[in-house]
Amino acid sequence: MLRQKGARVGKVTPAISQLIADMLETMHAAAGVGLAAQQVGQALQLTVIDVRAAKDRPSTLERLGQPADIAAFMPLVLMNPEITPAAQPVSGPEGCLSFPEIYADITRPESVDVVGMNEKGERIEFRCGGLLGRAVQHEADHLHGILFIDRMSAATKKELKRQLDEMHAETKAALKKEQPR
Ligand code: ZN
Repeated sequence: MLRQKGARVGKVTPAISQLIADMLETMHAAAGVGLAAQQVGQALQLTVIDVRAAKDRPSTLERLGQPADIAAFMPLVLMNPEITPAAQPVSGPEGCLSFPEIYADITRPESVDVVGMNEKGERIEFRCGGLLGRAVQHEADHLHGILFIDRMSAATKKELKRQLDEMHAETKAALKKEQPR
């Protein structure tokens, strides 16, 4: 499922609204900064983000070219996002709820321009950077079946190889168990 490209969300149906509510609950319960639909078993271009809990990692947000209130913009529900780099790439630490206890430095543009749809089905546009910029890019990757392990440097991936291999084996075993006999 994590490797599936998400289908675009055309309309915010009651089922989508319910999925959004469930995803927000799951993300907050796990103290995560973001969660993509693929991580809860749905191949859709839908993600939720909330950077408020990460007080030690600053974010930036601009709307209509003006600095905007980040807390008021959270939690962010983002569908069908289109991302354009707005600054040079920088390296920074990342984790992922689908890869517990794996953290690595990933290089991404420091800020990005984002166009998408919110939970009301409205078009939203903003520029974000810092942790929020990183979270939006990490989640947008998920929506296309791309994982942060794909963006790790070869050296980092080598360092984490044993952990990643173990996780892969555990996931495979769990999936096998789940299958009906
Ligand atoms: Zn992730």
